[in-house]
Amino acid sequence: MDKLKGLTTETEKCARCGTCRSTCPTFRVLGREGASARGKLSLIRAYLGGEVSGKGVYARHIKECALCGACKDSCPNGVDTVGVFAAARSELAAREGLPFAASFIMKSLLEPGRLMPAALKFASRLQGLLLKDSSVESGLLPRFSLPVVGDSRLLPPLAKVFFLDMPEVRALPETNGKDASIKQINVAFYAGCGVNYLMPETGLFSIRALKRAGASVTVPASQICCGMPAYSMGDVATARGMALKNLEVFERGGFDFIVTSCATCGYALKTMFKKLLGDDAALKDRVAAFSSKVRDLSEMLVNELRYKVFKGEVSGKGSGKKITVTYHDPCHLNRAQGIRREPREMLANAPGVEFKEMKFPCACCGLGGGLSTTNYELSIEIARRKAQSVKDSGADVLATACPGCIVQLRDAMHRYGVDVKVVHVVDLL
Ligand code: SF4
Ligand code: SF4
Repeated sequence: MDKLKGLTTETEKCARCGTCRSTCPTFRVLGREGASARGKLSLIRAYLGGEVSGKGVYARHIKECALCGACKDSCPNGVDTVGVFAAARSELAAREGLPFAASFIMKSLLEPGRLMPAALKFASRLQGLLLKDSSVESGLLPRFSLPVVGDSRLLPPLAKVFFLDMPEVRALPETNGKDASIKQINVAFYAGCGVNYLMPETGLFSIRALKRAGASVTVPASQICCGMPAYSMGDVATARGMALKNLEVFERGGFDFIVTSCATCGYALKTMFKKLLGDDAALKDRVAAFSSKVRDLSEMLVNELRYKVFKGEVSGKGSGKKITVTYHDPCHLNRAQGIRREPREMLANAPGVEFKEMKFPCACCGLGGGLSTTNYELSIEIARRKAQSVKDSGADVLATACPGCIVQLRDAMHRYGVDVKVVHVVDLL
């Protein structure tokens, strides 16, 4: 509990006005006070005051949160709800430990030993035994009920060749690869687990778009998971180890920018790394310099590389019938990084695309905060509203900017019978 004491002042900033309840996706589904930010803040205060135990109801409500930030955005008193809830999770995880499966994945697979690629290569060979093709969307369905997964969840297929192992990627230089004879912006691409293991083609499209816009692109092979899954589950020590390893890998390259096409990874690299490493005086300046170079792909293309200037160079995709595309704002891009205009600008300029806004584009898809792992029914119920918005928009394609959201939205479209393709924005360029 000592780890939480410093948060008392933050929780006391809450005036109990209830504004946050109108924007909270977990409250919308569950309708319980404890599912809202106001309820959670009250519970945390009660726990700190010794009025409730840190188990049972308290623990359930601390975990029932997508960490989407909608409450923080809407709070007139500026309460750092997400910071408080993340700290409460960390304290809870330290007391209770993580579930066995989550702990095994965090400590044995995702930590800097890089066992993950070998384990997933093995799993990619096995997936045909457990999963079958789905005719509805690009995904796989379990052949029979599986632990954690159940029997109806649409799962993303593991890539046959992971992004970091692709010949095109391996052929790129390891460190600063720019041609010294011409003035070029030197970009390091951070793939993240979603692009690396599930959507390598999105990584290739990202690199191609960056190169077409004039950047020199490098992909450091030793990069690892950003640590956000561990952080969301409350395993701060593991997340810190990952942040440090990535900092060392990217510092070696002498890059102008570090670019990612994953909203969650971008948030981790820009903000979470500073929280995890910034307290250490020896690391503070280093991590600040690192984070200042991080850009989301859309930010990099639109703001730094002036993407529109190469629109005319993309040929052969502009003729014929246009497809209608709508856009889902990932919480980690929209709220956490303030990026809304840039992906829409990319879509509006993409050849053959007619952009159409849907209702509630900023509503959370239900993936965040580890909910899709720890409370799948709640997670997919949150996504129901998004599926309805997409259907009502009449779009042929749903684009977004986060591989995690793509996985969740493909599952949601399948579950709620909405016949649209779900892709990354860069896949449409
Ligand atoms: S909006 Fe802010 S002040 Fe109002 S109840 Fe929610 S957390 Fe408290
Ligand atoms: S972070 Fe999102 S899910 Fe969690 S309490 Fe706030 S609005 Fe609700």
